[in-house]
Order: sequence, then C-alpha cells, then structure tokens
Amino acid sequence: MTRIYAVANQKGGVGKTTTCVNLAASLVATKKRVLLVDLDPQGNATMGSGVDKSELELTVYDVLTRRADARECLQTSESGQFKLLPANGDLTAAEVEMLSLDGKERLLWDGLQPIKDEFDYIIIDCPPSLNMLTVNALTACDGVIIPMQCEYYALEGLSALMNTIGRIQELLNPNLKIEGLLRTMYDPRNSLTNDVSAQLSQHFGDRLYRTCIPRNVRLAEAPSYGQPVLSYDRQSKGAIAYLALAGEIIRRNENDEKAAAHAAHS
Ligand code: ADP
Ligand code: MG
Repeated sequence: MTRIYAVANQKGGVGKTTTCVNLAASLVATKKRVLLVDLDPQGNATMGSGVDKSELELTVYDVLTRRADARECLQTSESGQFKLLPANGDLTAAEVEMLSLDGKERLLWDGLQPIKDEFDYIIIDCPPSLNMLTVNALTACDGVIIPMQCEYYALEGLSALMNTIGRIQELLNPNLKIEGLLRTMYDPRNSLTNDVSAQLSQHFGDRLYRTCIPRNVRLAEAPSYGQPVLSYDRQSKGAIAYLALAGEIIRRNENDEKAAAHAAHS
C-alpha cells in the first residue's frame, strides 16, 4: 500500500525541504520505492535532488493544470535513488490558474493516481504558506509530517496549521492524520529547546517522533552538491538521524497496519 505524506509548516526555514530530500533517500536505503513531489515554486527540493530547475520542460505545474500526465514529468534524482516530480517558478502561476479549475483542491490527488501504485512512499514538499498548493498536498496525502524548530514562536504557528488540517479533514480528506511532529535543528544544550520539547511531548504524545534531527552542517552543505546527505557524507550525524527517522516511520506504519488487520478480524 502506498503511503503519501505531506511535509508541511507555513513557517519557512524549519527544515521541510531538508527533511523531504533526506527522508526520501533514507527510505530508498531501506529498499522502498520513493517519489518526491516538489510543491514549492522555489524548487529547492528539485535542486537538492540534483535536477536543474531551469532546464525543465515539464514540471508539477503541468500536472496540476492538467497539461501533462505525471509520468511524462518524472525525473530521477542525480544520485539515482528516487523519482522526482520537479518544480520551478512556473508553479507560481499554477496557484492562480488552479482557482478556476473544477475540483481545484484535488488536482494533485487526481494527477498522482496513474503513478501512485508504483511507489511505497510519496513525500510532498510544501511551500511555506497555507495556500492552494498546500491545500492540494493535504488533500492528496494520508498524513502530515510537521518539521519544527523548538523555539517559542514555533508553537504559535502550529495552531494555524492545526486549524487548516482540521478544516481539510472536515471538507476534503476525512482520513487525513497528523503523522508526526519532527524536531529539527535540535540542540539539547539549549534550555528553551528542552522546554518547548517537553510541551510538544505533552501535547502530541506519541505523535512526536522520538528521532530528533540535530543541527548539522553537512545537512546544509549537501544541497549545493545536489545530493542527499546520505550520498554526500553517510557518516554524518545528519545522515544517521534521517536514517533513524525512516526506520521510525516504517515501524509506525507496520504497527498501524497490524492494528488495522487486527481490528478487521475481531
Ligand atoms: P524549509 O524548506 O522549511 O524552508 P529548509 O529545509 O530549506 O527549510 O532549511 C532551511 C535552511 O536550514 C537551509 O539552508 C538548510 O540547509 C538548513 N538546515 C535545515 N535543516 C538543518 C539541520 N538539521 N542542520 C543544519 N542546517 C539545516
Ligand atoms: Mg523548502
């Protein structure tokens, strides 16, 4: 069964794109078939996967505006591990064009249908805003992964995101779940980090991933080589942390599936 996750937080610079690229590569390292969807006009996930956004003829823009089939738009990450539905500045226009299309919230979902079954995991990198692109990601996915830095203002932004998720659950995607909250750029020596971390744990319980992503310069360097950190420096703390996250996500899924099978039999 394909699992589709949107990586979302309307705050910029919290580690969404870093999480998408490195989680994709880490899931591949455990032999999963992975598609990364870049849904940010900045195209950072595209560049970070080693695909030049300025040389693309077809992107996710063409899928969302029904100009092309997703299959025609697929690229392969430079290190060859995962498939990519790339993005560039054209996507800015899509946001406006989509508003006049029928079923404007489901365009991504529709576009993924023909290729969905070829992947175990589809990871969607959202823009830093709660706009129609993010609405499409939240409508197309099974769960949301929310990366966040453990700082005071992080909690404030979270309530707007939770409200949006609640509305999409009601109106468009009743199965939508908070898959997990991910602490990024984590520094346990900082006491505010620990306070915020404790609050998150109280609020979200087992939805808070046990894996924390440390601040690690290798994670910041890897994109300029168009590589996930696993290819750039596989011994780095960042690489090890994202492998651990992939393991935690896979285990959660297996447990969820077992629980569902058990419920069906009893
Ligand atoms: P977003 O997609 O949420 O805007 P990014 O993933 O682009 O955030 O990260 C913002 C900046 O922080 C980037 O320059 C990235 O390389 C850097 N960064 C992200 N995560 C880490 C980390 N764990 N350690 C060090 N730098 C990081
Ligand atoms: Mg980003």
